[in-house]
Amino acid sequence: MKKTHLIAKYQPSSNSPHPQHVQVNAPLLGFGDFGRLCLRMEAQDLEAAEQFYHIHGVYYPAWSVAVPAAVPPAYAVGGQLASFSPDPDPEATTNKAAAPDSSGSDKKDQPQHDTTSKKDVRLPRTVLPIHYDVRLFPVLEKGNFSILGQVSIDLQCQMETDCIVLHSADIVVDPQSVKVIEQGKPAGKTLTVASDGIHYETDMEFLIIRLKDKDKLTKGANYTLSMNFVGNLTDQLRGLYRSTYKEDGVEKSMAVSQMEPTDARRAFPCFDEPNMKATFTVTLGRHRDMTALSNMPLIKTTQMEGMEEFYWDHFAPSVPMSTYLVAFIVANFTQVEADVGNATWKFNIYARPSARNQTQYASEIGPKIQTFFEDYFQIPFPLPKQDMIAIPDFASGAMENWGLITYRETALLYDEKKSSVTNKERVCEVIAHELAHQWFGNLVTMDWWTDLWLNEGFASYAEYLGAQHVEPGLKWLQQFVTSELQNVMSLDALESSHPISVVVHHPNEIHEIFDRISYGKGATIIRMLAAFLGEKTFRQGLSNYLKSRQYGNAVQDDLWDALTKQAKVDKVPLPTDVKQIMDTWTLKMGFPVVTVTREYENNSVFLSQERFLMQRSNASSQDKTVYLWWVPLTYTTDFQTLGSTWLADGQTSKKHELSIPADKNQWVIFNVDQTGYYRINYDSKNWQMIGQQLMTNHLAISAINRAQIMDDSLNLAEAGLLDYETALNLTRYLEHEADYVPWDAALAGMNYISSMMSRTSGYGLLKKHFRTIIMPLYNLVGFDQKVGEDLLLTKLRTKAVSWACSIGNKDCISRAVNSYAQWMADPENQCWKRSNTAENIDIISPNLKGTVTCTAIAEGDEVEWEFALNRYMASNVASERDVLLTSMSCSEKPWILAKMLEMSLNPTSGIRKQDAGRVISQVSSNSLGRYMTFNFIREKWTDLRKVVPTNFFSYIIKAVAKSFNTELELKEFIQFREDRSEELSGAERATQQAIDRAKNNLNWMRQNYQKVVDWLQRVY
Ligand SMILES: [Zn+2]
Repeated sequence: MKKTHLIAKYQPSSNSPHPQHVQVNAPLLGFGDFGRLCLRMEAQDLEAAEQFYHIHGVYYPAWSVAVPAAVPPAYAVGGQLASFSPDPDPEATTNKAAAPDSSGSDKKDQPQHDTTSKKDVRLPRTVLPIHYDVRLFPVLEKGNFSILGQVSIDLQCQMETDCIVLHSADIVVDPQSVKVIEQGKPAGKTLTVASDGIHYETDMEFLIIRLKDKDKLTKGANYTLSMNFVGNLTDQLRGLYRSTYKEDGVEKSMAVSQMEPTDARRAFPCFDEPNMKATFTVTLGRHRDMTALSNMPLIKTTQMEGMEEFYWDHFAPSVPMSTYLVAFIVANFTQVEADVGNATWKFNIYARPSARNQTQYASEIGPKIQTFFEDYFQIPFPLPKQDMIAIPDFASGAMENWGLITYRETALLYDEKKSSVTNKERVCEVIAHELAHQWFGNLVTMDWWTDLWLNEGFASYAEYLGAQHVEPGLKWLQQFVTSELQNVMSLDALESSHPISVVVHHPNEIHEIFDRISYGKGATIIRMLAAFLGEKTFRQGLSNYLKSRQYGNAVQDDLWDALTKQAKVDKVPLPTDVKQIMDTWTLKMGFPVVTVTREYENNSVFLSQERFLMQRSNASSQDKTVYLWWVPLTYTTDFQTLGSTWLADGQTSKKHELSIPADKNQWVIFNVDQTGYYRINYDSKNWQMIGQQLMTNHLAISAINRAQIMDDSLNLAEAGLLDYETALNLTRYLEHEADYVPWDAALAGMNYISSMMSRTSGYGLLKKHFRTIIMPLYNLVGFDQKVGEDLLLTKLRTKAVSWACSIGNKDCISRAVNSYAQWMADPENQCWKRSNTAENIDIISPNLKGTVTCTAIAEGDEVEWEFALNRYMASNVASERDVLLTSMSCSEKPWILAKMLEMSLNPTSGIRKQDAGRVISQVSSNSLGRYMTFNFIREKWTDLRKVVPTNFFSYIIKAVAKSFNTELELKEFIQFREDRSEELSGAERATQQAIDRAKNNLNWMRQNYQKVVDWLQRVY
């Protein structure tokens, strides 16, 4: 095959008249140290030598195919590897987090991976990397998407060994190129690799290099291990992969990396564990029209030898860092340099050239937030530059690669005319999250993935601080409560939740813990910690922790120690040390409900705690954990003075004398501003007094606590701990509510009732209640957006309009249908702009585009749906595309929903691969599409697995089963799990959570449906 000439130019060996071997010169690889790459090919003539084997759409040179056949039997699974001790060096205590089976509880929730022994997935620490020289050339040529690479790793030997074990996956190493050279010896002594010494342990993603005979690496000595390899530039959104997109109608490809958590090993052989930090010198090959980027700045560019159109970009050596933070990009992107004021670093935004006008917002807030965190942590950003880049195909939201942060387009790009306030918030929040990681995560890194929660929880907490700094109008510290705390409580209230600190081993398990619990609960308990320590102590302790461990690793106890020390310095009264308190929140799953029973005559309360569960299973549990916590309690009677006390771990109840006098006719509210991660229940008299206060003057209670009261009461009722009458009576005050956060909480709670009742006869009455509480808000905020209004008001309108239309308000529906018709008649808004002075607002405000499109499609027919599809495909703005795609699933026509599901799996349908999961979960949230989607995933599971990235499975499964509430649906879902148990690997926990939720729903229908209907009948 001649088209693959880009890899190498072939010449028959000149001194071999009948060549058994053909020498292949690969000058473009420029591997000067090792001479020319000599590929020995078993071939009789040049024609045959040029054959490349075609495997899975990728061309590998012939030798790469031959390698796996040469596996020596001694290295078969369970063979010699078992003799590696995971922690041979007693001083290497940092490895302790990997000790298997130390969790002690909750085994039933641990996914089992039968092919891989858990204790063997960690690398032996016989050698440790010090420095990597990585040279990669991603070949972006259709039909030949591959990676040509060379890596040279400086190692220090920790324990005598004849083997080097490192990570490698989907990579083929040229066996002839593998060299191990001892450093410091004159001329550098080369150790010999055994002739059959290269072995791939594919289950564990290990590459094992065995030395010949008696050659050994000796303790304390340094070596350089080097090799050439070929990788596969797939479209699987992991490792170094390719993303394709259209620019002015022309298809373009780029190479981009996503290493976290365990995919650096797919880009180059490496020691792919977070505590094996090293420095990196990166060199990337690229076409002259492309740009290459890496963590560090470019220092020079050289021409590829013999390749006129190609160059090597050489980057400065990095600081010591973990492999999961390494980043490579080769793309034809545009660069926008941000104004950084007095900062010593540079800050750039990169995007597709046609998205250049959407980079302004990021370039404004990025440097400001980075400066904010320098001040917050009291540590300067250590790199000379920060790049942020928007990637057309990206599996997660964003990735905090040190100095080169990658984002999904919707998380970085913002178009004033096409994107909504929610999009703006998303951009702001994600940028702040990734920038917080530059210190917490990158500078100091978790020792092992078990502490992932600390990394993600902290960034998820700090993002609110960074965002508040640049967008104070959005009241981030209030929004935290509904977006994080209350949101994660709904998941953590299930028996199948998990502790945030999870012992993980296999990559599948590691992937699975990137969930709401790690992020949302992590953030929430860190916020609680900051609240009971006091902001100043928290910040100082944190800064001390980061400074003392910079460029190293840490476990959660290291942070607790630093905070305990600072609390002592600042004389913060604590009942015990930070570790004792926090262990109850990190090692146990769930959270408590604290019941406050007042003794009205003597100004005291009786406090008790128990685990809050949405539903208790009857099955005898293996779980021996004592579910009690160290609970920091605060209370008030007027939001002026604050009282506080603790419930101890092991203490189920206690009597507490209120430190502030509370009249017996005065309410008391606990968990002031909901800084604590627990629910509060009261005696009925106190609930009643709170209700009266809300009806007469709700502003006497803080907005956050109004949100807390809505969320707690509706959830307590759902769990059977409070009567629905009390909870629903409380919601009647919403007629007067005009603040965002209480509405956010109330509607989330009411949405659950609505989703349970939407297919029942009682739904008509429920809609009446919704009309009573929502229409005053709808009338207050109005349908049309006003120029220059408060951002939170805009958000509130989006909610009000969406609910008003969904409960069938005629005014709302006709306005929505009319504006959509106007848009269909004028898709580019051209006539509209000519006849309107407010040129900057389209016919439909981006904030209402979702509701308007959804309503018009639900009320309309095929033509409305197709218009949205066409706009989705034509739009250059990712966030607008998301809104349109989501709204398309509002159709009431089953055949249209079926078509959408099929399109999600069809790569030529125009729906992007990264959007497939969104389409499926959106269709399933339409009550008409719910069962249809379940049938679809059952029938097409095999196809689905090919198209949808692994990390989307959990998402889809949870979305599909979210509203199941009949026996039949539950039974079939359990059957689905049994039928597909093997293929659900990596999503076991999500599947169990989905089953638990369906059981809860079923139970809710049995126990509460009639009660809610009775209340509605009484009131309406
Ligand atoms: Zn993160």
